[in-house]
Amino acid sequence: MLFSDKELREILLSEDQDFLEELYKEARETAKATFSNKIYIRALIEFSNYCKEGCYYCGINRNKYSVHRFRLAKDEIYSAAETAYEAGFRTFVLQGGEDTHFTDEDFAEIISHLKKNYDAAITLSLGVRSYEAYKLFKDAGTDRFLLRHETADVDIFQKLHPWDQSLERRLKAIYDLKELGYQVGTGFMVAAPFTNHESHIKDIKLIREIDPAMIGIGPFIPSKGTRFEAYPAGTVELTRKLLAILRIEHPKALIPSTTALNTISEMGRIKGILSGANVIMPNVSPKFARDNYNLYDGKKASGLEAIEGVRELNEYLKEFGYEIEFTRGDYNV
Ligand code: SAM
Repeated sequence: MLFSDKELREILLSEDQDFLEELYKEARETAKATFSNKIYIRALIEFSNYCKEGCYYCGINRNKYSVHRFRLAKDEIYSAAETAYEAGFRTFVLQGGEDTHFTDEDFAEIISHLKKNYDAAITLSLGVRSYEAYKLFKDAGTDRFLLRHETADVDIFQKLHPWDQSLERRLKAIYDLKELGYQVGTGFMVAAPFTNHESHIKDIKLIREIDPAMIGIGPFIPSKGTRFEAYPAGTVELTRKLLAILRIEHPKALIPSTTALNTISEMGRIKGILSGANVIMPNVSPKFARDNYNLYDGKKASGLEAIEGVRELNEYLKEFGYEIEFTRGDYNV
């Protein structure tokens, strides 16, 4: 079901708690119709915080000099994957800054190694690369790719990024990935600087056009030392409304309840799930990586947010009638 623009405006402006509770209920019932009470888990491996890009909002952008930079060696990536596999994870998500130290061939080697040694899905989240690179990664066995469009408003996109990036370039990458047969994830930051309800309506409509397998949204959170350090974070309420809208419009999409949402609210994780999300991505990076992969201030990376808390997380989810699903959790059209 697709909402009209008028309905979208009504939801985004609404402060009527009864109306919103009904919306969240419809969203979680939509998720349950596809996924029952199962929550898919993905092992998040943050492999590098070096980045050639200068995204103004991002805590690891190339111009932030206070960042202690790290990159994992291949063996450290393999060891994180091994730990995750032993804990029952069947999807590895390799996420990082756009680190040119890793050549396309390096990634292909890492992907081939993981595919050879583990019966698991591989998701990449490493930004814009060429069509040829994406083809190489796909041929090496990659299953999925996350690349948020960030904002569907061209002018706002340009205010959030330096001149050498464009929405057009990011969209071309998203469509390249689709053409190559990846399960593609896109999404945006909620309430990033300059965005507003109208730009979020554009996000919702762009996601309809892309028709992705995965949709990742989370609140913008300021990061000290970036040009947007004084801007307010997005709210739980707006994130929940947008999650619910996206779930109702995309009943089969894999939608994470993100770390960013859990960072701005004690109960953020479960609030995301109760608004229609069905994926959680616990952190399995080594401690020094977790400590330095700070996309925004206060980012959570331990406890229920991480691999060591996965059993406890399952118990916690059960209190709300959900449970972890330990299989790959592919997108099924
Ligand atoms: N470089 C890759 C890319 O662009 O897809 C992957 C890493 S990037 C750091 C992952 C995501 O972090 C981005 O898509 C962005 O939406 C999110 N992010 C960055 N800074 C953020 C902030 N201050 N608040 C919330 N999310 C942020």
